Amino acid sequence: MGIKTVYEDCDVLVVGGGMGGTGAAYEARYWGRNLKIVIAEKANIDRSGAVAQGLYAINCYMGTQWGENNPEDHVRYARNDLMGLVREDLAFDMARHVDSAVHKFEEWGLPFMKNAKTGRYLREGKWQIMIHGESFKPIVANAARNSADKIYNRIMVTHLLMDESKGNRVGGAVGFNVRTGDYHVFRAKAVIVAAGGASHIFKPRSVGEGMGRTWYAPWSSGSAYALSIQAGAKMTQMENRIVLARFKDGYGPVGAYFLHLKTYTQNGYGNEYESTWYDDTKAMVGEYIDHQPTPTCLRNHAFIQEVKAGRGPIHMVTKEAFQDPHLEEVGWENFLGMTVSQAVVWASQDIDPKYINPELTTSEPYVMGSHATCSGAWCSGPEDISPDEYQWGYNRMMTVDGLFGAGDAIGGTAHAFSSGSFTEGRLAAKAAVKYIRDLRNENMEISDKQIGDFKQTIFQPMENYTIGRNEITGGTVSPSYLLPIQGLQRLEKVMDEYVGGTSVNYMTNDKLLERGIQLLDVMEEDFEHIGAEDLHQLQRAWELKHRLLTAQSVAQHTLFREETRWPGYYYRGDHMKLDDENWHCLTLSRRDPESGEWQMEKAPVYHIVD
Ligand SMILES: Cc1cc2nc3c(=O)[nH]c(=O)nc-3n(C[C@H](O)[C@H](O)[C@H](O)COP(=O)(O)OP(=O)(O)OC[C@H]3O[C@@H](n4cnc5c(N)ncnc54)[C@H](O)[C@@H]3O)c2cc1C
Repeated sequence: MGIKTVYEDCDVLVVGGGMGGTGAAYEARYWGRNLKIVIAEKANIDRSGAVAQGLYAINCYMGTQWGENNPEDHVRYARNDLMGLVREDLAFDMARHVDSAVHKFEEWGLPFMKNAKTGRYLREGKWQIMIHGESFKPIVANAARNSADKIYNRIMVTHLLMDESKGNRVGGAVGFNVRTGDYHVFRAKAVIVAAGGASHIFKPRSVGEGMGRTWYAPWSSGSAYALSIQAGAKMTQMENRIVLARFKDGYGPVGAYFLHLKTYTQNGYGNEYESTWYDDTKAMVGEYIDHQPTPTCLRNHAFIQEVKAGRGPIHMVTKEAFQDPHLEEVGWENFLGMTVSQAVVWASQDIDPKYINPELTTSEPYVMGSHATCSGAWCSGPEDISPDEYQWGYNRMMTVDGLFGAGDAIGGTAHAFSSGSFTEGRLAAKAAVKYIRDLRNENMEISDKQIGDFKQTIFQPMENYTIGRNEITGGTVSPSYLLPIQGLQRLEKVMDEYVGGTSVNYMTNDKLLERGIQLLDVMEEDFEHIGAEDLHQLQRAWELKHRLLTAQSVAQHTLFREETRWPGYYYRGDHMKLDDENWHCLTLSRRDPESGEWQMEKAPVYHIVD
């Protein structure tokens, strides 16, 4: 193949320059003054990742300097929202450092809204502070740019390299430039994966002409999970997918509406409905329904049940708040700074929230470990507070030596959000630098064969297309290859119907999951025949393969956990109750990189905070 290979040798390689990745690059430089730090990013770090479009609020800030919250309070909050199951050591570690990250953002020029009376950051809620955040991403990207030796934009990382002198140690990563088609080989002593979570695993509500409109960024393709899974890293809580109640069709956020504008929901007949489902929910989850604040999944549950009972649609009552010109402005600005398309949808559907209460809907499920759920890699915790079973050397290191993670990549750490993900990047980088120092002059072995094999594998979809294209005279259906979009729609359909998507009201059971897993396995074979007509489609092909691995992991975990822990996120029809006696635990999986077999196990939940 006449493809150019570009080599880069470095100490720390950061895969993905989003919130976690920029934090990692910044901190790696602080501790590793003389180390070579490189970022490989699929898009361009100035506008990449979930924060690309900007944010209106930083959702995780303790405010400890003003006595507002302590890290322990945040652990209790996250634990409560996740029905008891979080990695409390990681959550505490993030929470005790997050304020300093936020202070950095302000120092770097991010404009914060301030409370005119107190001078403090303006609170939207107990944990959220409000910002003029359109330029949030370029601001953190600038900090990363000032810290890294080199930033490679437009590199889709497809696989991690392994050190062949040791059984279980990472040695870098490989990928390709989505514009030039060059093959890139990064040899690194430590790798920090911060490549974000996954949308388009389940069939979205918006299909056809609306396809591409999702709540979670459509370009988040589960690479953080797939790269780690391929390398043999253990994953945790992958069943804990997230479903969001959001404004219909534009997926506009509701946080500022509930918290700042004090809007509220009602059913299609103008009635409050959450209390209707209290007894039903109590029968499923027991006293968790009495917790304050009500866990997000249980609020979703009431929403879903009310719609199923035929009393939809659910509306957000905006007509009252929007009479106040200030709140009206905040309501619109909330979208203009973060989800412009919701404002466009309303304009196109003649919805003025001052006069019409807009509809809400529940989204398709997404997989992510930094927002309000816990999916991700199983990693070592901080040495001062983690119990032995959660600690094997270096903070945020996965079960593969030298492989670290941050943000969506890491499991068990819900409610980190933008600031918490950046903080996790910092924590991972600090530990990665220590890991590199401890390595001293130990050599790694990465053979030409390993590098050559990956090159062959990565560009194979273009080969498939070039050869197979000759067999058809027109159209997109070929006997020899499958286009990425066709594969994606197949994946989404299976996940939707068998693993608990929207079209089945988030319901699944062991029989459905077993069949779904079979179908996903068949897909894995078929995806060897993906055809890519150009570099853009090659990127789509690899995004699809990463999504498939993520989906397989979600299905395996969902089958393993025999209970309904989070009604409103998904239901196991064969185990419709929360079962604390058997399942007050974390789930772990490992896919054998050689055989492709999945092994599942339970891990204890340690409650470190009372
Ligand atoms: C819709 C939405 C709304 C949100 N609202 C808020 C909010 O209001 N306040 C708040 O604080 N937080 C909010 N968050 C959460 C916050 O955005 C995330 O917690 C945070 O961005 C996660 O950081 P990350 O580094 O894991 O992922 P990201 O920031 O998404 O970064 C991942 C990076 O990896 C890159 N990448 C992906 N695949 C590859 C690959 N194969 N090779 C190379 N690079 C790759 C991506 O291009 C991207 O740059 C929101 C998230 C979403 C999705």
